[in-house]
Amino acid sequence: MRPLLLILSALSCTFAQENADRQWYKGNTHTHTLWSDGNDFPDSVVDWYATHDYHFLALSDHNILSRGERWMAMKAIQKRRVTLGKSTLAKYRQRFGTDWVETRGEGDQLEVRLKPLAELKKRFEKPGECLLIEAEEITDSFEKVQIHINAINVSDVIKPQKGRSPRETMRNNLRAVQAQEAATGQPILAHLNHPNFQWSLSPEDLAQVVEEQFFEVYNGHPSINHLGKPNRPGDENLWDIANTIRLVELQAEPLYGLATDDSHNYHGGDASPGRGWVMGHAASLEPAALIMAMREGAFYASTGVTLNHLDYGMASKAIRFEIEPEPCVTYKTEIFGTRRKSPNLPGESLGVIEGLKVHFPMTDEFHYIRATVTASKPHPNPSFQGQLSQAWTQPIGWKVSP
Ligand SMILES: [Zn+2]
Ligand SMILES: [Zn+2]
Repeated sequence: MRPLLLILSALSCTFAQENADRQWYKGNTHTHTLWSDGNDFPDSVVDWYATHDYHFLALSDHNILSRGERWMAMKAIQKRRVTLGKSTLAKYRQRFGTDWVETRGEGDQLEVRLKPLAELKKRFEKPGECLLIEAEEITDSFEKVQIHINAINVSDVIKPQKGRSPRETMRNNLRAVQAQEAATGQPILAHLNHPNFQWSLSPEDLAQVVEEQFFEVYNGHPSINHLGKPNRPGDENLWDIANTIRLVELQAEPLYGLATDDSHNYHGGDASPGRGWVMGHAASLEPAALIMAMREGAFYASTGVTLNHLDYGMASKAIRFEIEPEPCVTYKTEIFGTRRKSPNLPGESLGVIEGLKVHFPMTDEFHYIRATVTASKPHPNPSFQGQLSQAWTQPIGWKVSP
């Protein structure tokens, strides 16, 4: 399933050289537009990200790809607004001009055409600078359990697959993603979204469905219960529990964590863009290169902290990076991991490192280690009260038996 991992150690001599040719790219893989339940035009949404230093963006509407001809009533568009102010159409015309904006009908019957991804790609994409990746949020459920999986770089829509249990539903959708990848040869990155949304999925669910390699350790939607509640772990804690079950009991590879926006609202109000993103270290700004990098663990999740010289990958010998400083901001890095002698204590805090340079060696004492960096700087657009800017590295130093 992850052939690259198998050959990584054999290539370790050349790997450092290959890494030197890579660049860091910033991206958001979870975004909604008027094509499903977002409240702005897809081109306005892309424009927001393109003008806020993002290199790649996946528009991931619910169970739909932005293809074909689609017109939407202006009345319905305006109803999506959670705040008043200049109309969505007026903002759209102001930004793109009347030549680009297509309308038909008048008054109450006025409709606006939603641009398909192919047209957005022509307008916005620039090699090495701006990439749009076709994506979908496969939005499924089992009874009241919400199972949402983003499929990034799809070549056709994937219908929710359903199942007889939450785990089977997860598995069926992931297998549909794998089947499309196998049929087309086009790599697809699937990530499980917001496990605590409506308290849907347990750490055991995440652990047991080993087809899943990625999940959202942070999602910017305010309703996803990021911090958990008494007797329900928050997203970060859930990650450590699931990974410990995988490594100790299942001999399965750990989950990697993404931060995403899950943005819906672009005119004020909550679920707004710019809250969480990934930084991927890839050979080029192309879908296959980014996905390959992420499958190797060559990325980190961020809500506002930038890391330099990050050591990554399953075979890394240490958590090692330098934090890019900002004026008047201090940083604390907490190292988490599970000790071999105490697997019943998943994700123990193994130490806190203050300052910009972080180095924590991996030893045989641990199943894996990872780091969370927390800045003294409040998040500029928080999704929960008291949120500070953070970054999460991927688990390193882990092994699974063949
Ligand atoms: Zn969702
Ligand atoms: Zn979503």
